[in-house]
Amino acid sequence: MDTDIKNALKAIVGEKNFTDALIDRVAYAKDASEHSHRPDAAVWPVTTEQVSAIMKLATEAHFPVVPRGAGTSLAGLAVPEKQGVILDLGRMDKILDINIEDRLVVVQPGVVYADLDRALSSYGFFFPPDPASGSVCTLGGNVATNAGGIKGAKYGTTKDYVLALEVVLPDGRILHTGSKCMKSVSGYDLTRLFVGSEGTLGIVTEIIFKISPKPPLNSTAMATFESLEDAGRAISEIMYSGIIPSALEVVDQQSLVVINENTDLGLPEVEAMLVAETDGYTKEETEFQMEKITAIFEKNHATTVKRAESAEGAAALWAARKSAYGVMARINNNLIVEDLAVPMSKVPDMLRAIADLAEAHQLRIPTVGHAGDGNLHPVVCFDGTDPDQVRRVEAASEELFEKVIELGGTLTGEHGIGLAKIPYMKMEHDEVSMDIMRSVKHLFDPNNILNPGKMGLEA
Ligand SMILES: Cc1cc2nc3c(=O)[nH]c(=O)nc-3n(C[C@H](O)[C@H](O)[C@H](O)COP(=O)(O)OP(=O)(O)OC[C@H]3O[C@@H](n4cnc5c(N)ncnc54)[C@H](O)[C@@H]3O)c2cc1C
Repeated sequence: MDTDIKNALKAIVGEKNFTDALIDRVAYAKDASEHSHRPDAAVWPVTTEQVSAIMKLATEAHFPVVPRGAGTSLAGLAVPEKQGVILDLGRMDKILDINIEDRLVVVQPGVVYADLDRALSSYGFFFPPDPASGSVCTLGGNVATNAGGIKGAKYGTTKDYVLALEVVLPDGRILHTGSKCMKSVSGYDLTRLFVGSEGTLGIVTEIIFKISPKPPLNSTAMATFESLEDAGRAISEIMYSGIIPSALEVVDQQSLVVINENTDLGLPEVEAMLVAETDGYTKEETEFQMEKITAIFEKNHATTVKRAESAEGAAALWAARKSAYGVMARINNNLIVEDLAVPMSKVPDMLRAIADLAEAHQLRIPTVGHAGDGNLHPVVCFDGTDPDQVRRVEAASEELFEKVIELGGTLTGEHGIGLAKIPYMKMEHDEVSMDIMRSVKHLFDPNNILNPGKMGLEA
């Protein structure tokens, strides 16, 4: 990147909000995935007008810009594949309005998820998407990835809460979508187009979210199953019973083995463990729901069913599910956290297929996931310095996604396509669908300067 462009960027954001230092470029080369590519520079804008001026400059001088929140993407979404400038929105981090009467908040994109949730808790409200990375990831990143979490089955994902957006387009124009109303069918739904668009269509500079009152009580139970099929039947029965759990999570046998090898939790190494949570406004309500769920566990031959009597008891039942990723990250050189989703009734078939693939390719692929919405996270563990293991990982991944599509599933439930899923895009999307997606990208970004090289749109 030539000096004139760097000077022009400094003139827009100020010297202190620009860097081309090697240490920063190395840090911005990565997100939480296995992908890596160094940018030429990074900027920290603090106003929408600065973002707009940067994009006008990028259009004139034709350099790539990659918007970035906290860089926790697990699929290479925030990696500057074609170099250029990282536009870090972390300093646009104000909660601008909390409006309880209208049930909405107005925020800048750099606000950390947990900071909004904390601010809302004093009003008895919450922001439900609840990604596991919530203590660090940003709301702009959540919108750009349509983030979800363990409450998805009952409360949905980020897309269910975005009412309106302010977006800077690649040519620098500022677009306002949506409204503060709970309902609107006024024109095309441009808001939804940006949700999950991975920073490829525009830069989100302000967001209006719907918020939810937070049920104050919850109840937690855990069940173990000797067979995946029994666990699968229990999941399906719960989800059509009329009770919608606020969480229904699954931990597979490979995960239980890995956790046991590396902690003193002493978990039963059964084919599947399910953890369920219900929430509500009275003890009777949460208990009534949980009784129905535990009855379904028992009817489907659960070998153990435990109900928490206290908050500490609930934390103990959640320990296996919540410790899984940390344990795996600690003991493996490299991890790929996959993120497929299948129709709920196919969860056991998918778990069985993952176990078979792990055996066939001699890999460890422990899997946890959101059983209540069919979103599974097989964690492919390997040593990236061993070419043979890398080859086996590639072969297993290809077969994994073939199976996902065969079961009527989708490549990603919440982490996005980014760089990681590009090789599989055409398994799920036919040529018409790819063509329309390319046309949408071209309409918004004819010069291909905004987060280029993502989602397989250039192939
Ligand atoms: C330990 C761990 C647990 C995780 N758990 C979950 C989970 O439970 N659920 C889940 O959904 N995800 C999860 N993730 C993935 C990740 O946290 C989410 O995708 C999150 O939404 C990314 O937010 P971020 O601020 O880190 O965005 P980044 O990683 O910085 O960026 C992600 C994408 O958003 C774009 N982007 C960022 N800000 C903007 C903006 N203002 N305007 C336009 N585009 C923008 C970037 O260009 C990029 O394409 C997890 C990640 C980790 C490391």
